[in-house]
Parts: sequence; structure tokens; C-alpha cells
Amino acid sequence: MKLVFATHNQNKLREIQLLVPKHITVVSLHEIGCKQDMPETADTLEGNAKLKADFVFENYNLPCFADDTGLLVKALNGAPGVYTARYAGEANDANANMDKLLHNLMGEKDRSASFKTVIALRLSEKTQFFEGSVHGEIGAEKKGADGFGYDPIFKPLGYDKTFAQLPISIKNNIGHRGIAFAKLIKFLNTLNATI
Ligand code: IMP
Repeated sequence: MKLVFATHNQNKLREIQLLVPKHITVVSLHEIGCKQDMPETADTLEGNAKLKADFVFENYNLPCFADDTGLLVKALNGAPGVYTARYAGEANDANANMDKLLHNLMGEKDRSASFKTVIALRLSEKTQFFEGSVHGEIGAEKKGADGFGYDPIFKPLGYDKTFAQLPISIKNNIGHRGIAFAKLIKFLNTLNATI
């Protein structure tokens, strides 16, 4: 089974390729010759995931899935949420995003937050959704060099280290995208599909 993952993010691709069973080949946008930015103009994570999956399904006629992730910070009433990538501007600059979040949480005692991922799968006209969340807190400063995005400031519940300090295997097991992706794989395994 060949599935396009509608992302240009090599880190995400690598995370997911570690999880897929052998009978599924995840192909990147690069591999199908798509260099365009995916549309992300919806105001929900579900909406953005669907926009991206629809884009590939409709323009390339290939089975496809797409994800959208948000960081929801309790003290900020769920912000940055659907605007997580562009929190500090259109550039999706991870350092600028983290700096803005650390600044906005200065002096805040309740630093609890969660990552939420929504995956939209398009095998046909119907779209199916899979979700995963991980709870934790925003650290006081950036720590660790692995991972991407907000990983250096997100400490998952039960760990004293950030996602950027923990091995990718732990992040995949307990993380938002890993959980959502496991649900996607479980679903694909229930299909006798020959796609
Ligand atoms: P997207 O949905 O993949 O575009 O991600 C939205 C924003 O969340 C981007 O700024 C990403 O860098 C960030 N993000 C997504 N997944 C993760 C993660 O696993 N760790 C840290 N940041 C992430």
C-alpha cells in the first residue's frame, strides 16, 4: 500500500516512517514531484488537515493523508492553537515562536499545555479523521537539540526532560502525532484494501 504524506517536513516524515508496518510505503510530497506549499487557511486543525489531504487527492489522484498540529496552552486560553506555526509571524520560525511563547508566559505559574494532532485520510471521496494528544507543560527555557518546532520547551507529563532531550522513540510512543498515527495504522490494517 502506497500512501502520500502531504508534508514537506522531513522530521515528521522520519518519525512516521519509523512507525509504519512493512506493507505500507509512505511517500513524501517531494517523491511525487509536488513542491507547492500546502493550503492551511482553515480555522481548525481538522479543517487544515483536510485541506492538505484534499489538495493531494484532487491534484495528484493519489491516496493521501495530512496532519495538522496545534499547541494549546491553558493560561493562554488555548493559544496558539491553530496558529501554532505562525505564532510569531508567517515565517514559522521555531526560535521566534518559542521566544514569543516564553515571553507571554513570563511569571505564569500554570504552564500546562498540550499538543494535539489531527490526521485527515483521503482514500476515496470520504475523509476520515484520527486524533492524538499529549499533555505536559512549557518549560522556563529551551532545552535539548533534537526534534523540531516547540520541542525544546515542551515537557511531556511524567518526564523531567523536553521532547528535544528525549529519544525520538519515546516521543513517538507518547506523543500527539505518534498516537494519532497509531490510530491511522490500526485503521489501515483493518482494510483489505488494495490501494
Ligand atoms: P504543522 O501542523 O505540522 O504545520 O505544525 C504546526 C506547528 O506546530 C509548527 O510550528 C510546528 O513546528 C509545530 N509542531 C508540530 N509538531 C510538533 C512537534 O512534534 N513538536 C514540536 N512542535 C511541533
